[in-house]
Amino acid sequence: MMQTPPMIDLRSDTVTKPSAGMRRAMAEAEVGDDVLDGDPTTRRLEERTAQLLGQERALFFPSGTMANQAAIWALAERGTEIYVHDDAHIVNLEMGGASALGGVQPRLIQGAPRVTRETLSMAMRPPGRDFPRATLLCLENTHNGSGGMVTPLPELTALAAVGRSVGCRVFLDGARLWNASAATGTPLEDFAACADATMVSFSKGLGAPVGAALAGSKHVMHAAWEARKRFGGGMRQSGIIAAGALYGLENNLSRLGEDHLHAERFAAIVSEAKHARVVPPETNIVMIDLPADTDAMTFAKAAMARGVRVGVWTASRVRTVMHLDVSLADMERAAGILRDLLD
Ligand SMILES: *Cc1c(COP(=O)(O)O)cnc(C)c1O
Repeated sequence: MMQTPPMIDLRSDTVTKPSAGMRRAMAEAEVGDDVLDGDPTTRRLEERTAQLLGQERALFFPSGTMANQAAIWALAERGTEIYVHDDAHIVNLEMGGASALGGVQPRLIQGAPRVTRETLSMAMRPPGRDFPRATLLCLENTHNGSGGMVTPLPELTALAAVGRSVGCRVFLDGARLWNASAATGTPLEDFAACADATMVSFSKGLGAPVGAALAGSKHVMHAAWEARKRFGGGMRQSGIIAAGALYGLENNLSRLGEDHLHAERFAAIVSEAKHARVVPPETNIVMIDLPADTDAMTFAKAAMARGVRVGVWTASRVRTVMHLDVSLADMERAAGILRDLLD
């Protein structure tokens, strides 16, 4: 009997399953009650993350979404505006948390694919009128909605300076900051130095099952700690999951360039199809725009029937993401299947 090859799941870099080594590290983690008097493995992860990001302190969170919301809570004033890109994770995928929890009104920075100095300036209100005040600028690097685009350090520095010049603090949603660093060679700490707080995710490129961290000054992290507790994010023997994140930092951070090479090769193969319009990848995400007569849901179903799962991004765009559980051979097979479907 012919064996069906296993499904290749390119919907997200969050679909990775913890490896045997990671599971072992988690099983053997030294733990304590982190709410009561501290968990040693969580502390090690927080210290390592703070060091990598060049910040005084880092706090471990169950998810990037909660860390983002805690950052907004800690950095923005209630009843004011936050500048944020209209295609940001904070706007699209956090269930209105900025308004519901943070008490702020998003002022959207419009214009694809990511924030530029021009589009930021266009979103800014003129001074000295009866408008709401803005107290926070949120930036995202890499930018998920645009297909993992990088904001290079000089540009990020300039954007932060524009925000500060109008009295805003700066938050960096760096769920995939690892990828921005791997793609540019810019140290993580240089990116994080632009912001008052930076979020990083362990469950994306690093292959951990859960977790994110927020890093910043002691002062900002004190407010974020309060928000985390308020949101119900105080965790007890969190060392079990922190150990997975630590394992990811130690073993998987240095291999992210491989995902980027896979993305580049994948895009090149799919681009050979007559009807494909592939956004050239900068990191590990490849967006594919479908021909006018093909709807994304139908395309995703057809791909799945042939053994590849893709993410439906809009009615005419699918997203594919390279990650730890996609080998070179998987990538080439998946690319061939999508190429044939689009030919
Ligand atoms: C995934 C993601 C988040 C949220 O992280 P979760 O751990 O899934 O809650 C936030 N921002 C960006 C840019 C992301 O890609």
